[in-house]
Amino acid sequence: MSKAITDLARANVRQLTPYQSARRLGGKGDVWLNANEYPTGSAYQLSQETFNRYPECQPKAVINAYADYAGLKPEQVLTSRGADEGIELLIRAFCEPGRDAVLFCPPTYGMYGVSAEAYGVERRTVALREDWQLDLPAIARNLANVKLVYVCSPNNPTGNLINPSDLRELLAMTAGKAVVVADEAYIEFCPHASVVSWLEEFPHLVVLRTLSKAFALAGLRCGFTLASAEVIELLLKIIAPYPLSAPVADIAAQALSPQGIATMRQRVQTLLENRAELQKALLTCPCVEAVYPGEGNYMIFRCTAASSVFKSLWDQGIILRDQSKQPGLSNCLRITIGTREENQKVIDALRAQPGLTPASAPSFSKETP
Ligand SMILES: *Cc1c(COP(=O)(O)O)cnc(C)c1O
Repeated sequence: MSKAITDLARANVRQLTPYQSARRLGGKGDVWLNANEYPTGSAYQLSQETFNRYPECQPKAVINAYADYAGLKPEQVLTSRGADEGIELLIRAFCEPGRDAVLFCPPTYGMYGVSAEAYGVERRTVALREDWQLDLPAIARNLANVKLVYVCSPNNPTGNLINPSDLRELLAMTAGKAVVVADEAYIEFCPHASVVSWLEEFPHLVVLRTLSKAFALAGLRCGFTLASAEVIELLLKIIAPYPLSAPVADIAAQALSPQGIATMRQRVQTLLENRAELQKALLTCPCVEAVYPGEGNYMIFRCTAASSVFKSLWDQGIILRDQSKQPGLSNCLRITIGTREENQKVIDALRAQPGLTPASAPSFSKETP
């Protein structure tokens, strides 16, 4: 692009660092454990063969099926191009560029910051405490001009749930001032922890969901925003006229059928078993210092020299996600739970890594916090 054209762009777009998605980071491998995708997929058939007509903006079959699944009324459900579009729609609906702010608590999901930056909205961060819970007093001190607070639970990348009592306190301190967005992208792996039933009590609560993780449909690009009918109506004013293509709506409706949901629950069961197995095996690797299994389809582990372990596995075609630059996560890698075969390949590669020398070996045992 010529310099002159670049100069025409908005200043914050020129300076924008795009989201480093797992796909953009590249890599050449056959064991992809860096994007929290489900490791296997189901086959779908389109029920429609022609596509000359525009689709519905909010396909009824998809909305009704998700409302049933979540225990909500259809008018409390919005569907979009992934949960990522929900993150962005909320910023566009609630934040005045150059004046308002969004608040989030690193280490956490990167898109809250990227979307805010793209719209010229201030990103205010309040780091999680050492135990990866919310620092409520610090949040309370930083709420001026904040319109949205994003809370990810289970949190990506740390995997832990945010204490429900803290979330209630956050909702109390933001009432009438800001919207609290609970990102439940991984909630199917710990359904008991959902706060969706709180929507009745808190009109300023929004819940984000996706078909990309437990439903094994990351390639489909379909997500959901759950909220009061009032919030959904605001978002419908600014959403694209046809956010879901007809094939996407068709497949999403199938995934949300009773059989699709039963298949998803079996997938979750398998994954939880494989997660427990992988956790145990990781603890036997000399280069691994600590394992934090969390509640999602991924886990964080700390190793003696994360960057060299990461690089060595990368060179062997095993692609993990390096989290060591995130606050509080030095020497931490994130691994998506793969198939048993994939997990075994990772363990074999990790066992071959140099471990701690006896002199530098920690005296603590490899316990999870
Ligand atoms: C994967 C992920 C999303 C995005 O989901 P899509 O529906 O694929 O856009 C949102 N939030 C978190 C925390 C995620 O990990």
